[in-house]
Amino acid sequence: KGRKIMGIEQLLILIKPDGIKKSLTGNILTKLSESRMVIIGAKAVKVSRDLAEVHYCHLKDKPFFNELLDYIQGKIYGEPWDRVLAFVYQGEDAVLRMRKIAGATNPEEADQVSIRGSYGRITTKGVYENVIHCSLDTSEAAREIKLWFKPGEIVKEIYPVKKIIV
Ligand code: ADP
Repeated sequence: KGRKIMGIEQLLILIKPDGIKKSLTGNILTKLSESRMVIIGAKAVKVSRDLAEVHYCHLKDKPFFNELLDYIQGKIYGEPWDRVLAFVYQGEDAVLRMRKIAGATNPEEADQVSIRGSYGRITTKGVYENVIHCSLDTSEAAREIKLWFKPGEIVKEIYPVKKIIV
């Protein structure tokens, strides 16, 4: 049996405003904790239009872009739900493993046991309200962590970190 090189990765998780409004923070963190990863950054954020636009810049040409910005800013819910909880998780193979726990983007297609499959829905405006954001890959993760967190807000060095042999 050969030795497998596993990367220690970091990624951004957001509990989106619908997750907060539905009081799902505890349920979501419980499911995420199954991954045995560590939280190295955590905070509540009131999302500005600028931050929302930069975070979702890869989707700016999509017909649902404006609704998406309203959604991540919590505009459709208003006070006191117009915020997100942002976390940086770190662990082996973190991105793929967390994407699996999060489930597919479309909550109706997501695995029933996943977070999005359990708690997500599609709004009447057609936005996928899927309760969490989870970085897509390691390069997106690095971009997003730098966008959402200052170095001093993270208790370990910012991605990328060393590889370990298991
Ligand atoms: P993910 O969040 O799974 O990385 P994307 O970056 O493609 O997926 O999309 C960002 C967010 O935009 C999704 O989580 C979802 O809330 C919304 N979204 C994506 N695709 C659609 C779509 N086709 N229709 C409605 N909303 C969508």
